[in-house]
Amino acid sequence: MEIQKNRDDNAKTAAFLTLGCKVNSYETEGIKKLFEEDGFQVVEFHERADVYVVNTCTVTNIADRKSRQMLHKARKINDNAIVIAVGCYAQAAGEQLKEDEAIDIVVGNNRKKDIIKILKAYIDDNTIDSIIDVSKPLEYEELEILDISEKTRAYIKIQDGCNQFCSYCIIPYARGRVRSRGTESIMKEAKNLVEKGYKEIVLTGIHLSSYGIDFDNINISDNYHLLDLIKELDSLKGLERIRLGSLEPRIVTESFVKELADLRTFCPHFHLSLQSGCDSTLERMNRKYTSGEYYEKCCLIRKYFKNPAITTDVIVGFPGETEEEFKDTTEFLQKVAFSKMHIFKFSPRKGTKAALMAEQVREDKKAERSNALISLGEKMAEEYQKLFIGNKEKLLVEEEVVIDGIKYQVGHNERYLKLAVKSEESLINSILLVTVKEVLNKEIMICESMD
Ligand code: SF4
Repeated sequence: MEIQKNRDDNAKTAAFLTLGCKVNSYETEGIKKLFEEDGFQVVEFHERADVYVVNTCTVTNIADRKSRQMLHKARKINDNAIVIAVGCYAQAAGEQLKEDEAIDIVVGNNRKKDIIKILKAYIDDNTIDSIIDVSKPLEYEELEILDISEKTRAYIKIQDGCNQFCSYCIIPYARGRVRSRGTESIMKEAKNLVEKGYKEIVLTGIHLSSYGIDFDNINISDNYHLLDLIKELDSLKGLERIRLGSLEPRIVTESFVKELADLRTFCPHFHLSLQSGCDSTLERMNRKYTSGEYYEKCCLIRKYFKNPAITTDVIVGFPGETEEEFKDTTEFLQKVAFSKMHIFKFSPRKGTKAALMAEQVREDKKAERSNALISLGEKMAEEYQKLFIGNKEKLLVEEEVVIDGIKYQVGHNERYLKLAVKSEESLINSILLVTVKEVLNKEIMICESMD
């Protein structure tokens, strides 16, 4: 099959769309780079392209549906294009997707780095195995990025896979077991991004806390873990901030927090996934901690950092969640006083244990509990914002926003509070010293410049 040329300059074109998490966004950037190196010109997804790549997600049944919709949308834009499904849904529903006439190629996880080879084989009417069994031990799949779409914050993927098997989650089946990226490769990418001007990097992965647990397999010291990597990155000249993606509470020990508190660049923003504040719900979820243990971790963090941001995810309406259990969760959330919460209504994911559990909670009950926790979260977020009024903060400007006809420079402080300061001059990617004046709304606080 010949790739259709649809541009005057005869360049081959490719368009990309990402669904799902930050790890997927990172991987799409890596795939884009492979296409560019092969001479493709990248165009917007809504434009006519020769090749469409949809990096799919399978975290819920809705994510599956959305992935299928986007693949069909690509086919509609250009009936002659080659449509490629990659990523988690492609992995999980591989055989089914191969039957779908709208899709030409299905590339599973740990095969993304070979996407150009797979595409070329397809064009030459050859077939290469593009889906592998991810339940076996795999090596970390190296995908490099040169640049990212966000202007000031660079996400770096350091790990893939998960060994936890929470009862509601399909990810260990779609992404396989834990594999960590070599430190040399991470340092090289971080250095390159800092040289490009990025001041903040966010370490991301599927189960970040497991970083390094597999290193005995690849000749790196088997006690080199996340903390060692953060310390190494902290020494990078020009880097101002290191932020961490979601952490599992068990990684938080006194020495972990104490050492982080000594670092120059570490942002005291801990996203500790809780999911439920009730111990029996946590057990059914196959989470490996109790609410008491979780609370101790929060106290440790607060011992070493003043007003740290502790944020979390909560699932409401997990199978068997009684009124009493929900009450336990609500009280626990109040006790911890999170600075931000993401509330999810439980959605049964085909192929997981939780989807088969008896006592599924009614949708109206889930909605009621979700609304209650969303408003609790908003109240706690406002209380947290108020703690900063009068404080001097460092604002890394990410965008310009016009509020009530006035131009503001807007970004975040180290604790991920969104701050805005008046200025006509564009100051994107600068770090400004500001005084926090007032809460504008639940999203933004207004500041005054101190420079
Ligand atoms: S820790 Fe649990 S929820 Fe998170 S990816 Fe692993 S199995 Fe899924």
